[in-house]
Amino acid sequence: MDVHAYKDALLKKRGEILGTGGIKPLQASMENNTRQGDMADQASGNNEVHIQLKLKQTDAKILQAIEDALERIKKGTYGVCRDCGEPIATARLNAIPWTRVCIACKEKQSS
Ligand SMILES: [Zn+2]
Repeated sequence: MDVHAYKDALLKKRGEILGTGGIKPLQASMENNTRQGDMADQASGNNEVHIQLKLKQTDAKILQAIEDALERIKKGTYGVCRDCGEPIATARLNAIPWTRVCIACKEKQSS
């Protein structure tokens, strides 16, 4: 397996998330704290905040998964399913380089 290609993909994705300002944990929580009270009674405004917050959480999750994947590359365990220990299909790694589980285990999780 050519982990260098996956490492490049992971670093690129991490740069995208950090570079686009998709994640600014401190600022996000500050905004949330100051705006929450004002917007509690405004349904539309509240929704908007909620959606933005959700997006940030998704970015944060992916970012964490990318860090974990980079760690696994260092340890030499990259591309192995966390749950069953089987190798993850390269097609899946190409699509989601930061994935931790194979397709079979992923489907088990969501069902
Ligand atoms: Zn598995």
